[in-house]
Amino acid sequence: MMQKKAVLVIGSLNMDLVAAVEKLPAQGETVFGKTFSTFPGGKGANQAVAAAKLGVPVTMAGCLGQDGFAGDLIKSLTAAGIDTSCIRYTGTSTGTALITVGNEGMNTIVVIPGANACCNPGDVDRALAAFDQAGILVVQHEVPPQTVEYAIRTAKGKGWTVILNPAPARTIAPDVLALIDIITPNETEIASLTGCKADGKEAAVTAAGHLLAAGVGTVVVTLGAQGAVGCTGDAVIHVSACPVTAVDTTAAGDAYTGALAAALAEGKTLAEGMRFAAAVAALAVTKEGAQPALPWREEADAFIR
Ligand code: ATP
Repeated sequence: MMQKKAVLVIGSLNMDLVAAVEKLPAQGETVFGKTFSTFPGGKGANQAVAAAKLGVPVTMAGCLGQDGFAGDLIKSLTAAGIDTSCIRYTGTSTGTALITVGNEGMNTIVVIPGANACCNPGDVDRALAAFDQAGILVVQHEVPPQTVEYAIRTAKGKGWTVILNPAPARTIAPDVLALIDIITPNETEIASLTGCKADGKEAAVTAAGHLLAAGVGTVVVTLGAQGAVGCTGDAVIHVSACPVTAVDTTAAGDAYTGALAAALAEGKTLAEGMRFAAAVAALAVTKEGAQPALPWREEADAFIR
């Protein structure tokens, strides 16, 4: 069997602090909450955990603060088997998301990037220097744009395959777009990147055409319960979502991108990788939370069989 490539995720680590309330407080109002929970999150960390639980070697690079959340986030990564030696501790707070969930799923979210905003090109250089062979780089938009751009340029220059999950949406410089091997936007993100609505398969293919024309190698648009479309210069692949009862769709996109990276690290084709990612993301939406909901390899294989 072919040797698995290494996956390097450079991105965000957050602790999600979730308060459940009957009614969201109005401005200046104080309300009693029902429950309080903490969940390890951040798109970078979620995607790293998704890939690592599927059995590929994963290294995570990013920044944490020197507080209790940092230790909890490292524990979650380590439990998934991730190499955390490239994570840097900074003097600021660990990234957090303050989430208030009211009845009927209404919510308010405040994200404090904290240490994620400190992730810089030096972190990229240190992480890439830890490898003597090119692998698969996975990046998102929750660390500064200059860092993501630097990571894409440097990794590409060293022969790495680059996957960008462009979430949350923000502008990407044309010369950087042209270096991306695989981009994995959802409907909203591709609409923001191209100015084209992508509500449904046909529209997604049209929007993807703009990114291909800009030089992106492969565009995989995720369409929630409608599955995903993968577009290359000469093929369009549609993979339906796996029918499951969704309990919590948080991080479906992270599960998808992490699983796609894992599949490609094993040498699977794009179509095989998309089918595998659809199964992993479907399993993830059947459970509460982000990282704990991501399936281990055995669960994914048993579900696909
Ligand atoms: P999020 O922001 O919640 O992380 P996203 O908007 O980035 O998600 P989606 O397009 O909603 O990503 O979902 C990614 C993939 O997850 C889909 O392509 C699909 O394969 C799977 N998925 C999402 N929702 C469902 C669902 N209800 N049932 C089965 N699979 C789903």
